[in-house]
Amino acid sequence: SSSVEPRPIRRLQESLINRIAAGEIIHRPASALKELLENSLDAGATSIRVIVKDGGMKLLQIQDNGCGIRKSDLPILAERFTTSKLSTFSDLSRIATYGFRGEALASISHVAHLSVITKTKSDTCAWKAYYLDGSLVEPKPGQTPDPKPCAGNDGTIINVQDLFYNTLTRLSSIRSTSEEYARILDVLTKYSVHNPKIAFLCKKAGSAAPDLSTPSDSEISHAIRLLYGHSIAKELINVKEDNDESESWSAESYFTNTNYQAKKMVFLLFINHRLVESPRMKRSLEAVYHTILPKGASPFVYLSLNIDPRAVDVNVHPTKREVHFLNEDAIIERVSDAIQQALAAQGKSRAFEYQV
Ligand code: ADP
Ligand code: MG
Repeated sequence: SSSVEPRPIRRLQESLINRIAAGEIIHRPASALKELLENSLDAGATSIRVIVKDGGMKLLQIQDNGCGIRKSDLPILAERFTTSKLSTFSDLSRIATYGFRGEALASISHVAHLSVITKTKSDTCAWKAYYLDGSLVEPKPGQTPDPKPCAGNDGTIINVQDLFYNTLTRLSSIRSTSEEYARILDVLTKYSVHNPKIAFLCKKAGSAAPDLSTPSDSEISHAIRLLYGHSIAKELINVKEDNDESESWSAESYFTNTNYQAKKMVFLLFINHRLVESPRMKRSLEAVYHTILPKGASPFVYLSLNIDPRAVDVNVHPTKREVHFLNEDAIIERVSDAIQQALAAQGKSRAFEYQV
């Protein structure tokens, strides 16, 4: 028989449970940023500005010119499962696939100091509110926790300060603030390519020159040129697959031809406008290029897939960047084939050009 004595099971403190759960959603500054970006995009912003201090550990600020948040909604803004994006059960299959169903701001408030300045078009002034552990709190002891009137433009500013100040395990997993800043820039760069109509800016606090700046009303190919450089942009092939009604997906891709050879593959994958990872899709594209590029050479691929949200696997936890979807094999094969054919066609026309 066991030599271990059973020990009493105790319920963890609520605040600890919330913090652990939040840490599962917010892994690092870049994952917080991604959620805040999605919110600004959902709010219809055409301009998004990000300011970062210490790789986002000290401060991550995102300012948008979107619809703003109504003052009356501010008290419950950082509670779990409060959202303006879902009201009926049938919406759930549409939303549950990607959004955090009202969990992002709540999670952030459990692992950082969160404050919000927001103004809707019909507000006469902006409102500022502070949050801690899911609740609206007073900015200073003795003050009321109500939102305070302040000056501000239409739209929303979200400040995330002292990320993981209360979560030592997460804090200790962050090794370098410059690495975190690089991750933030990578997320922003990819969203900038996918949203060329929107002006993005990112800089370090106190620095005059932005590290990323894109114009509004641009095009995907221009954004790729600006952000990834001319050597990629001049070798791009664009393929669209608009499938008929009977199919529940469509795709658009920009990928380099055989003239471009990088050491590492650059792969931007958006599914239903959310940046995700699909190792299977990536492997399949690598295999396509493997047959036509010299050994050790890799391409640049931007791929935007739109799939009927009901066909995206909701069993995969929405916080996982890796996604699965119905007919995954078939879709991966069709996308890979289309890219292969376009590359082959380009190869042929090139060979023909050289012959004459
Ligand atoms: P979700 O995005 O899943 O609804 P969040 O916690 O990310 O959950 O946001 C909660 C709610 O706060 C959103 O539904 C939205 O109404 C509001 N919100 C958050 N960020 C913004 C923003 N930048 N502009 C306007 N509204 C916002
Ligand atoms: Mg959100």
